[in-house]
Order: sequence, then structure tokens, then C-alpha cells
Amino acid sequence: MSLHFLSSITGSFSQGAAENPTVAMIEDAYKDLGINWRYVNCEVSPSNLSNAVKGAKAMNWKGFNCSVPHKVAIIEHLDGLGDSAKLIGAVNTVVERNGLYIGENTDGKGFLTGLTDILDIKGKRVLILGAGGAARAISVELALAGVESIGIVNRNVDRGRDLVSLLNQNTSAKAYFIQWDHTVAVEQNIDILVNSTTIGLYPRTDQHVNINLSLVGSHTVVADVIPNPPETNLLKAAKEKGCQTINGLEMLVNQGRLGIRYWTGLEANTDVMKACLNTIFA
Ligand code: NDP
Repeated sequence: MSLHFLSSITGSFSQGAAENPTVAMIEDAYKDLGINWRYVNCEVSPSNLSNAVKGAKAMNWKGFNCSVPHKVAIIEHLDGLGDSAKLIGAVNTVVERNGLYIGENTDGKGFLTGLTDILDIKGKRVLILGAGGAARAISVELALAGVESIGIVNRNVDRGRDLVSLLNQNTSAKAYFIQWDHTVAVEQNIDILVNSTTIGLYPRTDQHVNINLSLVGSHTVVADVIPNPPETNLLKAAKEKGCQTINGLEMLVNQGRLGIRYWTGLEANTDVMKACLNTIFA
């Protein structure tokens, strides 16, 4: 009789790993798929990142996620990058391909999946709050997917302008910068508004983004990347205006599904993953 006690291993390297619910969601998805795969959530400091990658290779890990603060630093430890990870300049998912570790980025792609489920984004006008890692990933994927224009609203001018240049030089979307030193009025012609800052993230759940929604109509889709709490002040205000909303759990589930697809080649059941997160954040 042949025995099968060796699991295929995936996982995550980050600091503050205890706050990350991804492990619960992915392990539920693996169980539902009936495969002998595991996901191990690891606390890894920047000085140990190189050894962590060597360890993963030595133990034949099939891949891993990396989160704060490793999304950029991981690149020098990898064997190559996928196209959008190269453009974004950050990696959140590493995939083993023929013994090589290749960096991909599913943050923006996961966000895009949730959005395209409810509207056709071709030719749409987008306003993005923030210019950090999540904003870079989301804006690059939206631009590559054919939105018409992207406004980047950011407090730090250099970071905001860098992102605008990146989008204008590498995609057909028209990108522009708004410095966030005042209450920014969201124009009526904006089709998609995205908060990709950390404003409102637990424990500072009472924070509000400094914008004015008075011109916004119900045609605007409003999304927030904050997974915890799923219903931010921005999403509450958008619902009151009759807007469709997308919360950060949607992005988390979809990028997890894409990670599982990269690693196993299988399609995970997103209902199982959502149920897991809903229990955690209930
Ligand atoms: P970064 O640190 O790279 O970027 C943070 C951004 O928030 C910057 O643009 C920063 O502006 C802005 N910001 C922070 N505080 C303020 C403030 N008080 N006023 C104005 N702007 C502010 O973080 P990430 O991009 O990596 O993460 C952003 C969020 O995305 C996090 O909450 C994270 O949880 C979420 N996320 C969610 C995912 C999901 O699957 N749901 C996946 C990945 C991330 P400035 O440049 O001026 O400092």
C-alpha cells in the first residue's frame, strides 16, 4: 500500500502575521478542494527574509504570499517577476515554476475581479485615494484592463506623482495627480472611487477619508481595500447615497483564489472562503 503523508506546502511571510486571516481562508479552501496542501503563516523579520526564502526552497514549498514589510524587499531574492508585478514594483505572491521562484502580484487582480463582477470597466473614470502598495497594484491593473482615466489623490506628493508617471508611461489610461491637502470633492463624472489608504483600518475605525461626496450619484461604484472592519465609514456613506459598494474582504478572497490558482492550478470555492472570513469578522 502506498502512503501519502507529505503535504504540498505554501504560506505567508510577514511581520504582524498574527493579524492576517489569510491562513484560515486558504486552509478552508484546500480542505474544500480535497487536496493535501497546507498554508503556514510565518512571522519573518526583514533581516530573516533571505533565510526564509532559502528555507522555503530547501523544503520544496510550492509558493508563498508576502505581506508588509516584504512586498518590495522580496524581489531581490526571487528568480524572476511576472509582467504586472514588474510594473507595480511589488510582489505579494511567489510561485514555484520548474524549481524557480517567480514573483506575481494578485492584489490588483483580486480587486479587479470583484469590480468586473458588477460592471464593465472599459472606458470608466476612476479616482483612487492613496499611492502606496495597494494603490499601485490596483491602478496598474485597472489601467491595463482599459479604464479611461485615473486620478491619484495622495498626501505625499512624490509618491503620488511617481505613480501617475508610471501609469502614463506604461499604459493607455490618462493619469493625473491631486495633492491631498484639502477636502477633495469627488466629481459627478467619477464612475469608480477606491480608498486604498490605511484610513479606517482597525483599530482606528472611527477615521474618515477627507473627501466630499455631495456630487456623487448612485452610478458611482465605491470600493474600500480595508478588510477590517469590512464596513468602513466611507462604505456606509456611499450606501447612503445609493452607490454599489465593494469591501476589502472581496479583494482578500479574490486575491486568495488567484494565489491558489497559481500554486495548484485549481479553482477554489469563493463561497467557502467568504464564509470563513465572515465568521472571523462577524
Ligand atoms: P502603504 O503604507 O503602502 O500606503 C498607505 C497609503 O495610505 C499611502 O498612500 C498613504 O499616504 C496613505 N495614508 C495613510 N494614512 C493617511 C492619512 N492619515 N491621510 C492621508 N493618507 C494617508 O500601505 P498599502 O498600500 O500596502 O496598504 C493600504 C491598505 O490596503 C491597508 O489598509 C491594507 O490593509 C489594505 N490592503 C488590503 C488588501 C485586501 O486584500 N483587502 C490587500 C492589500 C492591502 P502617503 O503616501 O501620503 O503617506
